[in-house]
Amino acid sequence: MKSKWILCPICGNKTRLQIRADTQLKNYPLYCPKCKQESLIDAKDLQVTVISGNKVKE
Ligand SMILES: [Zn+2]
Repeated sequence: MKSKWILCPICGNKTRLQIRADTQLKNYPLYCPKCKQESLIDAKDLQVTVISGNKVKE
């Protein structure tokens, strides 16, 4: 099974989130431990789409 680590869309640092070829994420709040920002992402078939690269406001 192929898998890869998600990179932070803001600083490019490797996050702690790993996805597999069969992983599907929708509006997932990806937290980066380096720049401490949250980004909303979608992921499917190892393709990551950044919905919002800025800090998510509630
Ligand atoms: Zn970052």
